[in-house]
Formats: sequence, structure tokens, C-alpha cells
Amino acid sequence: MSSKSLIFAIAASSVLSWGCGEQPAPAQEIVDNLIQAGFPSNDIQVVGERVYVGRDAEVTLEASREMLKAADSSEEQYRTTNLVGAAVTKVCVNGSAFTGVFSTALDLAIQNYTERSLRFTMARTPSTGCSFTIQANIDPNMNGGVAGFPANGLPFGSITIGGRLSQYGVDVIEHVITHELGHTIGFRHSDFYNRTISCGTGGNEGDAGVGAIHIPGTPTTASVGGSIMNSCFRSAETGEFTGSDVTALLALYPPAAGSRLSFRTATGNFLVAENGGGTFVGADRTAIGDWERFGYVDLNGGELLNNDLINLRAANGQFVVAENGGGGVVNANRATAQGWETFRFINLEGRSRFQAGDRVALQASNGQYVVAENGGGGNASGAVNANRSAIGAWETFVLFFQ
Ligand SMILES: [Zn+2]
Repeated sequence: MSSKSLIFAIAASSVLSWGCGEQPAPAQEIVDNLIQAGFPSNDIQVVGERVYVGRDAEVTLEASREMLKAADSSEEQYRTTNLVGAAVTKVCVNGSAFTGVFSTALDLAIQNYTERSLRFTMARTPSTGCSFTIQANIDPNMNGGVAGFPANGLPFGSITIGGRLSQYGVDVIEHVITHELGHTIGFRHSDFYNRTISCGTGGNEGDAGVGAIHIPGTPTTASVGGSIMNSCFRSAETGEFTGSDVTALLALYPPAAGSRLSFRTATGNFLVAENGGGTFVGADRTAIGDWERFGYVDLNGGELLNNDLINLRAANGQFVVAENGGGGVVNANRATAQGWETFRFINLEGRSRFQAGDRVALQASNGQYVVAENGGGGNASGAVNANRSAIGAWETFVLFFQ
């Protein structure tokens, strides 16, 4: 058997960050560190003086020690006692050290946060109006990431991303950056109580001096692939938040007042994402509650203006979709936003800015308009469609900012 074949034992997971370590001799210390860091022992191979883990990544003694420096753990959606305060409205990330695939992944990770209409926005520097700036570093010897937790109402001031992640590609790097940014705003590991869940080995991170408070509305138990905040990542990660991740984000940092939209139909009813999302959009509500408030993402950023393309998000974080891009029913059950989830937001008052009370229309990606059948009031799926070729009374909505 060649040494190369030994190296090709694929790691099911790698560790994002860890607890503290011990100190034996070189190769053995590296192995011990890796095991303590959560790598399954059968994914670790020693060839001569060198130690490899999954996907033939060599781990140096220095790197293995680095892995043990920062503590990280998980359970399904837990937060630290400290969170980012309301004074922080824009978190900036200085990623000037990031090039190539790391730069692309950083942009995607930031987008994971900006597209959720959180209480604070996030942007990469240079940017104006930053409340706080996180320094993003690359450690060429690391195969994971490290960050810290909020203090004094501010995010943690830095994240460090492992240069060795380049072996996995952009989605895994996006995953790790999104994960580390999650720590900076107060997310513990989803499997903090038992790192074995995502790492295959490892114990309970415990309180870690920062608290581990379960976030309402999310599961109390973790699962492999169940959260971007799991302790260890897999080579198959997509880089995207899971449903419970979004629930957790919105629970901790809900959109600021005035940043959600409600739509009143011709008969005086309001559009509703039934159950707060996960099923159809109706038009039969007489008052505005959470289910009748839609978060939005302005795809060109900046101020929401006439004819901007937007995504609309139900209370549970899922996106509104015109099925097939229009021509049929409107639902609120998509985890991600692409073409069918994109609407042109039209101000029928003939001016650029939107104000409460404006008459507005929504155009699906195929050019057809959203309609409340019969002007609203129909209590069933199919009461709101995206299949009209012109704007009349039923396709006109009065806008409320909530
Ligand atoms: Zn972590």
C-alpha cells in the first residue's frame, strides 16, 4: 500500500474551533490535538513524520496547536448571554486580506446576513456608516476558523479563516466564514452540548464563560447538517443558512420597525403569509400582525425605490415565490431567493420614493402582476396569484411600513 492511499481517508467533518489541549511529542502531539479538536481518529493518518487528516491535508504541529486555542462548541441554536446592542446598525467586515476564492466566499457570507433584513446590515469595507468593523484574517496553516463572542454590545472584533480551506472550494469557505461571523454576533455551536454530533468525537463545551441560552423556536437538539453553527463542517457544506439558522437570526436580530411591508387589498384586507410562512399567501386578513408583515431585500441595495427588484420574506424567514415565475399561485415557502422569488416593486403614485399609503404593485419575473382575486377576502390557497397582464384595482395594494 502506498502512503498516498493512506492519505485518502476522507474526513467526514473538520473542526471549526476547539477547547484546550495537551502537550506530548511532535507527531503524537499533532494526533492528540486533532482528536481533541474533534477529528475522528480513523481520519487521521501518520506517514513517517507527517500527519494528515482527510483529503490529504497535512497538519503541522503549529496548526494543530492553533486548532486548540479558541473554544467552540454546539447544540441546535444557542446564543451567548451577550448580544450585539441596538446601537449597532451596520456591521462592516474588513476583508482586504482576502483574495480569489476567499474573497468570493466572504462576499457570499456577508450576503447570507444582508439578505435576511436583520436589525443591522452588514457590508464589506470600504463602506460608509459602519457602526463597527470586524477584522477578517487568514491563517495559512489553519483548516477551519476562529472567532470570539460579543462584549459591551459590540460584535467580536476579528475572525480568522484557515488558508487550508481552499482545498474544499468556495461553498465550504462561505460556510466557515458565515459560521465565524455567527460567533461574533453571539451564536454558540448548535451542538455545543455534545460535539460528537457534528465532529464524530468530542464533549460538552458547557457554559464556556459566555452562556448557552436556547433560542426560542429552534430545536433543542442538533443534527449533522442541521445548522451552519455546528462545531464541525463537512466537505459537502453549501454555505447557506438552514431554516433553523434563519429562525434563530430573526429571533435575535429582528428587522427594525419600519423595515417590513404590509399590503392592503382593494377590499381592505391584508396579504398574509399563512402560518407566518411555509405555505400559501392569502388575502383575507383584517388587521396587521406578524404574518401580514413581510421583510424585504432590495436587490440593488440602498434605498427602496420605484421599480427596484425585491425579495419578500415571511415571518419565518422563508421567501415569497410566484410559482414558475408567474402565471399561477403565490406561496411563501422558499428557503432561498432566486428568479421566481424576485418581484419588481412598482410605485403607482408616480414618484421614486415609497411612503406609507402609496398605491403599489408587484410584478413577477415573467412580467405578470400579483393579484388578490376578487380584490381580496378569499380564504384559501389560490386567493393570491401572479397571473395578470395589467394593473387594475385587484392588482393594486396600499403600502404600509411596519
Ligand atoms: Zn465555531
